[in-house]
Amino acid sequence: MQGERHSGPHSGPHSAGHHAGHHPAVEQYLETILELEESGIPPMRARLVDRLGVSAPAVSETVKRLEREGYLTLDGERVLHLTGSGREYATAVLRRHRLAELLLVDVLKVPWSQVHEEACRLEHAISDNLEAHLVKLLGDPGACPHGNPIPGSANVVDPGPLQPLASIPAGTPCVVRRIDEHLQTQLDHMLELEQARLLPGQRVTVSDGGDDLVVLDVDGVTVALERIVATEVYVSL
Ligand SMILES: [Zn+2]
Repeated sequence: MQGERHSGPHSGPHSAGHHAGHHPAVEQYLETILELEESGIPPMRARLVDRLGVSAPAVSETVKRLEREGYLTLDGERVLHLTGSGREYATAVLRRHRLAELLLVDVLKVPWSQVHEEACRLEHAISDNLEAHLVKLLGDPGACPHGNPIPGSANVVDPGPLQPLASIPAGTPCVVRRIDEHLQTQLDHMLELEQARLLPGQRVTVSDGGDDLVVLDVDGVTVALERIVATEVYVSL
């Protein structure tokens, strides 16, 4: 279900804590820009078209609106930059997304591979008040079930430098640390990771690699992962 539009006259950027009620689509745009940054991809309108599955004209229009409202700027290279208030807002949405994922996995026992999609809907409906209750219930967790840091948590643990699993040479043991938000949108690949137990904290050794596949040893079990999937699984050595 889509949320309600902001009912009052809209006078400018919302301050943190008072953004609830904005249109979910707007929140999705800002959150996606932050996710692209997290993936090391320059946020451009074309990337938003890919990731949000909406038309280029629709993206251009919403980007213009977000620019007008002071949430982002567009540079000469067509790269989008979040302003201070844009970043604050995007971070708040991403934080609620990751708290919602934990609620779904830990409390509601929804399968790990499915919680991202559900949380994409829930995140827009979580008020400041509900967020505070979630934090209390979940114990101010530092990371989501996919290993991504929860911004604003006092318990974020820095796992050190991360690199894509696809870049690890054969024979090198490593530990799965985080699954990119973009990969989480692909249910078939998430199921594959879940079934292979390639979850955050899991030790793996790359045993072989080709152009299309990365072959892994996961607790003595051989797992072949598409290389494209392994580029969005981040590990530490
Ligand atoms: Zn997610």
